[in-house]
Amino acid sequence: MGIIHLLDSETINQIAAGEVVERPASVVKELVENAVDAGAGSVTVEIREGGIGFIRVTDNGKGIAKEDIPTAFSRHATSKIASALDLLSVKSLGFRGEALSSIAAVSMVELVTKTRQEFTGSRYVIEGGREKEHSEIGAPEGTTFLVRTLFYNTPARRKFLKSAVTEAGYISDLMQRFATAHPEIAFKFINNGKTELQTSGNGSLKDCIYHVFGRDTAAAAVEVDSEADGIRVTGFIGKPVISRGNRNYENYFINGRYIRSNIISKAIEEAYKPYSMQHKFPFTALHFTVPTEEIDVNVHPTKLEVRFTNGEALYQFVYRTVQEALSEKNMIPDILLSEEKRVRTVYAPTPESFEHRRITYSKEAVRDEAERVREEAIKATLASPLFSDTAGAGVPETQQEVPVSGNSLREEVVYGGQPTEKPGQISLFDKSEQNKEAFLKQEQEDHHQIIGQLFATYWLVEFKEQLFIIDQHAAHEKILYERTLTRMGGKQAISQMLTPPVILELSIREEEALKRYMGQFTSLGFEIESFGGREYAVSAIPEDLYGVDGKALFLEMLDNLVTEPPTGTPDIVLEKIASLSCKAAVKGNTKLSVAEARALIHELLQLENPFHCPHGRPVIVSMTKSELERKFKRIVN
Ligand code: ADP
Ligand code: MG
Repeated sequence: MGIIHLLDSETINQIAAGEVVERPASVVKELVENAVDAGAGSVTVEIREGGIGFIRVTDNGKGIAKEDIPTAFSRHATSKIASALDLLSVKSLGFRGEALSSIAAVSMVELVTKTRQEFTGSRYVIEGGREKEHSEIGAPEGTTFLVRTLFYNTPARRKFLKSAVTEAGYISDLMQRFATAHPEIAFKFINNGKTELQTSGNGSLKDCIYHVFGRDTAAAAVEVDSEADGIRVTGFIGKPVISRGNRNYENYFINGRYIRSNIISKAIEEAYKPYSMQHKFPFTALHFTVPTEEIDVNVHPTKLEVRFTNGEALYQFVYRTVQEALSEKNMIPDILLSEEKRVRTVYAPTPESFEHRRITYSKEAVRDEAERVREEAIKATLASPLFSDTAGAGVPETQQEVPVSGNSLREEVVYGGQPTEKPGQISLFDKSEQNKEAFLKQEQEDHHQIIGQLFATYWLVEFKEQLFIIDQHAAHEKILYERTLTRMGGKQAISQMLTPPVILELSIREEEALKRYMGQFTSLGFEIESFGGREYAVSAIPEDLYGVDGKALFLEMLDNLVTEPPTGTPDIVLEKIASLSCKAAVKGNTKLSVAEARALIHELLQLENPFHCPHGRPVIVSMTKSELERKFKRIVN
């Protein structure tokens, strides 16, 4: 007898499952994708023990016909494509036919489903890939999957799971993305009996952002809508104030699918660079509509990556779109003295969309309960300091201009599964935003009341019930930077000779960067020659670098360029020189006269982006009068 034998199908399935089902979040991802593909208008996900013990996914989609169920659980069984040719135009999220068989191979699955055409529904139980039950049952239209004890038969995999809390966190992130990807679907996520996320499914992305990421993010979201070469992008990007320390909030979707793409991420981050600090990542919720023939989604089993036929064009398109959206907005951040507290969203007990027939008789009770919860929420909201932030309670003149408190209140309360408000229409910081816009206008400069300088660094300027604080050094640096850009970029480069030349030995990556940007270095006044091996002689540097050590500058620049994506903006070398030299130029606390400060502010406000210094730090911040009054308890919360 030979020693080579075929594995039995159970083992094959368990091995294959490893590609698709890595952790509870993978199960949720696959089941929710199936619900979306089934045309559901509402999807509920419930988990316990981080999804390791229990996952329920319920949808009101088209259901699975009784006779199709066993097939759906076999490997490579799908209703979504018929042949490889269809891959070119695949519009559904799934198409590989691997999820159900993989999930069933490593857990205990119970399925209840009914199609519109059938009179009764089906119950199907499958454990470790083995069918246990297939029977008739009364059921609403749609599908419910229950997945219990994940990896019960593959202890090796189970060992790699993290704590229940961490696993639940992954699922929560995933649900946030699904909700943001599909504003037309009402999502609900219940973790250990508590509703953690709920969206209305009314189709408004802004509403979704509000419910998923909260009020501050929605208030700082800038709308984007542009199109080029058949690719369309719509959605929102966050003002730099709400940027985070990791890429978790940098979300974008291609044809309704959440993906990660170096090209898109780089383009976004590059566009944000002038506005943000290093190691900060923006909030984005961008929906791309791309012709299906322009992308290949069949790259990876989890379909998290896609291939683009024209990556360079995509990069430029995204970069331009984000840059334009950012440059159009006023970016002065607010200072809040009062503690910022996220108002708790209250979820009244609500039926899932397809349950309404079953609970009609108790509608009144449900409504009473919802009303009670709502009232409690209103009381809680009233007690929160944030409430007066939005409505300006206690300040009579603001009260006339913003929606009356009753309306504002409902912003914070979600009940009955359908939010009653339209967050998109609420201008949370309207008045202060208008003041900021006006502050930036040249014709308003006469109304800037310069109060004085604080700590030999900050200029305080009063303007229309608002205090603006300008960081003198950041302002200086920004102005100097822009001047340097114009000077160096505009005319013939003037070099300053180094005698003797500086000899540097570069690393492979530094040498690569140097070669890539050699043309730009030369045009700015550098003279650099190869000296054999990886040694280079720098015999000239641009003149007038504010007395900065040329060699140090050159090395720091190379350092910077090494970490740069290859598709940087064309003037990248110029920008870096300007930024590095200005940083060195502006030092120490300097006392300015009021007239000098006025001139400085005047020049600052001429700039296209006066909001951030070349290193992304804010130059101007502002505080409203009512914020201060709140601190002094003139406004009672
Ligand atoms: P794929 O999604 O790649 O087709 P799956 O293994 O995820 O493969 O699902 C197999 C098939 O089962 C699907 O093609 C679909 O016909 C059916 N199916 C799975 N989940 C649902 C659902 N929630 N509603 C309706 N049909 C479903
Ligand atoms: Mg699927």
